[in-house]
Amino acid sequence: MPIYEYRCQDCHRRISVLWRSFSEVEAEPPRCARCGSANLVRLVSRVAILRSEESRLEDLADPSSLAGLDENDPKSIARWMRKMSGELGEDLGPEFDDVMDRLESGQSPEEIEESMPEMGGGEFSGGYDEEF
Ligand SMILES: [Zn+2]
Repeated sequence: MPIYEYRCQDCHRRISVLWRSFSEVEAEPPRCARCGSANLVRLVSRVAILRSEESRLEDLADPSSLAGLDENDPKSIARWMRKMSGELGEDLGPEFDDVMDRLESGQSPEEIEESMPEMGGGEFSGGYDEEF
């Protein structure tokens, strides 16, 4: 049973409608529970957003996304990590940018880790060790 979320264009109320079937959605336009207006705009449901997030993560887990990565070349690692963080849409903070700058200037990941003791055992270095 599909649940769709709508926003009423007249009273701006957000409503959820539980449909018995997909065909019913086509046959019967929903009405606002508050003002009765049929002037509703369907919102992208959170479920749909979660699904696309998951499929993006699956894409990242795909070995082909590692294509072109030379793990002995810091600049290549930096390019790949920027791509990863871009696709995740996450702001990884100033530390991440700092690491990227260092990789791009040719420093090895080991050198960077040594100069940033606060990273030891952190999420970043942990994930890093698993990946490579
Ligand atoms: Zn309304």
